[in-house]
Amino acid sequence: MLLLDSAPRATLWLPMAAASLSASLAVTSGSQLRDSHGRVIHDLRVSITDRCNYKCIYCRTGELGALYPELEIEEYWRLIGLFVSLGITKVRLTGGEPLLRRGLIGLVEKLAAMRTVAGEPLDLALTTNGHLLDSLAGPLKAAGLNRVTVSMDAVDEDVFERITRVKGSFRTVLGGIRAARAAGLTPLKINCVLLRGFNDDQIEGFARFAREENVVVRFIEFMPLEEGRLWTPEIVVPLKEIVARISRTQTLVELPPREASETARRYTFADGVGEIGIIAPVSQPFCGACSRVRLTSDGKIRTCLFSQVEHDLYGRMRAGASDAELRSYIARTVHGKEARHHIGEPGFLKPSRSMVHIGG
Ligand code: SF4
Repeated sequence: MLLLDSAPRATLWLPMAAASLSASLAVTSGSQLRDSHGRVIHDLRVSITDRCNYKCIYCRTGELGALYPELEIEEYWRLIGLFVSLGITKVRLTGGEPLLRRGLIGLVEKLAAMRTVAGEPLDLALTTNGHLLDSLAGPLKAAGLNRVTVSMDAVDEDVFERITRVKGSFRTVLGGIRAARAAGLTPLKINCVLLRGFNDDQIEGFARFAREENVVVRFIEFMPLEEGRLWTPEIVVPLKEIVARISRTQTLVELPPREASETARRYTFADGVGEIGIIAPVSQPFCGACSRVRLTSDGKIRTCLFSQVEHDLYGRMRAGASDAELRSYIARTVHGKEARHHIGEPGFLKPSRSMVHIGG
């Protein structure tokens, strides 16, 4: 069951707590967003659509389409602006597939013109399946986008298309990756979700690909966030195994994290050419340093990927809340962020929204 914290009911239920919390949070523009665990939240992921033109087997059943409405581009801009005024410095646009969204270039231009509380430009990134990247890489860069992450789950054409279930997608995505690199949307990261028995035979090929294409390949442990019921602990390829498999043919050298909240463990090769990363939320969770919150395509705040509760920020905006009231709501909501996920533990509950409807 999903609990929705929407304006009328929640306000009635939580007056005392809310009042004292916002007093203690003293929420004004320029504050820093912190949760009750002391983590500073500076990274916002915004889904601008839950539509997608791919049907990746570990994400979608292929039967369901988009389930949630999209806001107007200006409405995302206003909501993101509120988060930025509270200390967000990194914004990642996601989906579904964000390149499908009309008005994306305009939104990127608006966000590129925004400044953090320190007066710096935002760190503006986007995650895409790469299908439309060939034609959009140049315009996105010109609009002010800094970098892209492309989801690519195989370097073998057949395996790739078995996963995406879209004929011809492999060469299209490869073309998009090369166009993004040529446009300067770098460092260019490639995200590969590993599933045992589906694409774990691609690990060594991807290590070569990282070196040959000068991209950062990140292997991601499969999380129970799919539409269907594919996830089991056995299907997960853990970090230790990925390192061991690459080390059979290459010497890996671990690199230090760039910041505490970095999700990937980073490695280069003995000659320093190429980089891979491993994001291991299942075998080596990194929740302790989590700096992220999410805004769904329909304007709900999710304080954790595995939240069982959503917070209706857009509903409050539609109901006429002022910027000051919305900031207080954001700060209160972030303050209540979950400590961590509970994957694999007794009583673990899969969130009722799957990844394609949350945003990566
Ligand atoms: S599971 Fe939740 S708390 Fe953990 S890293 Fe992901 S978003 Fe952060």
